Amino acid sequence: MTTQTLEVVGLTAGYGTLTVLRDANVTVEPGSVVALLGPNGAGKTTLLRAIGGLLTPTSGSVRLGGTDITGRGPTKRAAAGICLIPEGRGVFPGLTVRENLLLAVDGPLRDRYALAFETFPEIGKRLDAKAGSLSGGQQQMVALARAFLPDSSIVVLDEVSMGLAPLVIDQIFDALEVLRESGKSVLLVEQYVGRALGCADVVHLIDRGRVSGPIDPSALGEDELMSRYLGLD
Ligand code: ATP
Repeated sequence: MTTQTLEVVGLTAGYGTLTVLRDANVTVEPGSVVALLGPNGAGKTTLLRAIGGLLTPTSGSVRLGGTDITGRGPTKRAAAGICLIPEGRGVFPGLTVRENLLLAVDGPLRDRYALAFETFPEIGKRLDAKAGSLSGGQQQMVALARAFLPDSSIVVLDEVSMGLAPLVIDQIFDALEVLRESGKSVLLVEQYVGRALGCADVVHLIDRGRVSGPIDPSALGEDELMSRYLGLD
């Protein structure tokens, strides 16, 4: 699947009468990694949910390859290549790894998940284990495996490193490089600013629902970014 540009244009969204996100603009170019950084409650998950079609915005649009997809639900967006990996593992612990992986695909598992098994060999070896018997890191790898499917072209990740040991986080961030090298684009929300800066081509800061313009992380030191990140507004 060819990766297309994802654009969030003037997006305002919230819950009931609560407006969480105001006039957000974010562009994810094909093959790029974009990081969204901001404090708790800033609206990061809300933006990702609006991109995944789980939340209908009050105004503004989400566009894919120039087509307005704001009215499309999550299934159609997934079919169009947007792969949302939500916060929390999203793995069914009582099902085997194989059963968890089959929830996302039809057909031969080894073919469809070839890149995922190459990137995370341990999950390919534990297909018949109950997902709940795996380590937290391995469960996150099972959750992430969908991102490697050939039909996932824009991978949207909500705090994938949450609660994981540093060595596992290294593996996860190496895996993001594999995604990029395979031509996919990545939009990630991440608490570890240093990790995000290490892999992102573009950073947006978000604070109280306001999203900054695109920032080139190589043009800005972590300290400067942190002071803006903490003192935005
Ligand atoms: P965190 O890092 O804590 O996950 P976040 O930046 O992802 O934060 P959001 O989860 O988008 O922030 O939440 C933004 C605001 O929206 C918060 O004030 C939160 O309480 C509120 N909120 C989130 N989900 C709902 C909901 N389902 N109903 C009502 N308010 C919500």
